[in-house]
Amino acid sequence: MKFDTIIIGSGLAALWCAKFLNEKNKKTLIITKNMVWDCNSFYAQGGVTMALDKDDVPLHIEDTIKAGSFHNDKRAVEILSKASLELKKEIFEYGFRFDEKVTKEGAHSIPRVYHAGGDATGRELHKFIFKKDKSFFMDEALVFDILIKDKIAYGVSVFKNNEKFNIYADNVVIASGGIGALYKYDTNARTIAGEMQGLMVEKGIKLKDMEFTQFHPTVFIEMKFSQKLLLTEALRGEGAFVIDEKGERFLFKYDKRGELAGRDIVSRAIFLHQQQGHKVFLDVSMFDEEYFKNRFPTIYQKLRDFGINVPYEKIPISPAFHYMMGGIEVDLNSKVKGFENLYAIGEVANTGVHGANRLASNSLLECFVFAKKAANEIVLQNFKTNGTIFEINNEELFKKEDKKYKNLLREYMWKNVGIIRDEKGLKETLNFIETSLNRVGRMTRLRFLTAKEIVKAALNRKKSLGAHFRKDEHGSN
Ligand SMILES: Cc1cc2nc3c(=O)[nH]c(=O)nc-3n(C[C@H](O)[C@H](O)[C@H](O)COP(=O)(O)OP(=O)(O)OC[C@H]3O[C@@H](n4cnc5c(N)ncnc54)[C@H](O)[C@@H]3O)c2cc1C
Repeated sequence: MKFDTIIIGSGLAALWCAKFLNEKNKKTLIITKNMVWDCNSFYAQGGVTMALDKDDVPLHIEDTIKAGSFHNDKRAVEILSKASLELKKEIFEYGFRFDEKVTKEGAHSIPRVYHAGGDATGRELHKFIFKKDKSFFMDEALVFDILIKDKIAYGVSVFKNNEKFNIYADNVVIASGGIGALYKYDTNARTIAGEMQGLMVEKGIKLKDMEFTQFHPTVFIEMKFSQKLLLTEALRGEGAFVIDEKGERFLFKYDKRGELAGRDIVSRAIFLHQQQGHKVFLDVSMFDEEYFKNRFPTIYQKLRDFGINVPYEKIPISPAFHYMMGGIEVDLNSKVKGFENLYAIGEVANTGVHGANRLASNSLLECFVFAKKAANEIVLQNFKTNGTIFEINNEELFKKEDKKYKNLLREYMWKNVGIIRDEKGLKETLNFIETSLNRVGRMTRLRFLTAKEIVKAALNRKKSLGAHFRKDEHGSN
């Protein structure tokens, strides 16, 4: 089996890249771990940021860079924002329709977040784009290795139906998403475990900005599923309050923007308030029930299913891990640095657009813009691999005790590598990771390698920046 391009993952970055390859009749294979929809893209609620018009581009750039604590790659941010105008046209011409009104989310100067199906933007976009996809498709297939020799990727190793096999291609695109499963509380789809980032570490490929992990401030965590229910930022953007058990809007003690401060600030404020023994809630009682039900149908239904009588009853909330700013270092055409034909797009990549903290709803925009760049580059380069054949990696993929170690890792990461960090906790976690690495199967080991990079990066950055907060900060970065 040989393809022009193999794409690992079936989120929006993967599908949008495939769209442009399909248009050039490139033989493309999408491989995904579980069902096609089992990805973060499907669960995106708030929307896609797109500059309103040409005049809004400089302000969108400014908002993005301010949110990113000026750690962003300015060239990448300019590409992102300018391309958002073209993207709006492309999505429209493709036949997709956003809801009529745009919304405002935290740290945006103006409303410029385009949503669909109320709070079901990801689901609507994903269903629409997947329906039109013409790629070859392999689901319930776990990628456990990428075939790499002398800076060229030759294909991937897959585990499906209890069998291991290699599939070859002229180009490989990694679109495997973030790292949600590394944390005890997270909003991510259950398939998102940071394995491909760990694979890069194994191959000696650089990850960048791994200390910058974003925690979403308003998550309903009182449920048994590992994926916790996100309560979109648009709720606060449109008027919901964060209160404590006494009804006090305590966020103003931390930042004068209150509910509309950046995510890291709001998350930290809630976390600290909880540590002082308070309970924290989202108050949505200012919304009329009919309006709430139509504007936020998914949240309305899910919370009602969990027995919370919204919008009348306040919702218990906590911050939870949400988004990874760091990832595989790529150039402005989404190519993994130093490689001929290996690309990374979407949340798994580090293009530099988010800096130390992502501006709300900029991630789907990044998926679209840089997925298209990868497709264009693949077409332009027309790279061909020779017929090199690889032996199958025979390392044991799973071991009996994996689950125990995965859960321990999630505890350590939440406690020590979460919203507030210090050297002692980080070192404790590093020690746990290092002593566990050889006790687990390959897939868990890849997660652990990713976690190790996060911890090492967090240890190295001794001063707080953006989403990375050191309570023991000292020295310079
Ligand atoms: C609840 C929630 C709400 C969000 N809301 C918004 C929003 O409103 N706006 C916004 O801009 N961003 C939002 N985000 C972030 C955004 O959804 C993600 O950053 C984005 O969808 C990532 O897309 P992706 O294509 O890179 O990866 P994903 O959509 O996460 O897809 C990754 C794919 O890789 C596959 N995969 C992973 N590992 C393997 C493997 N080893 N083998 C085979 N396949 C593999 C997975 O199964 C999956 O198909 C939200 C995130 C969450 C979790």
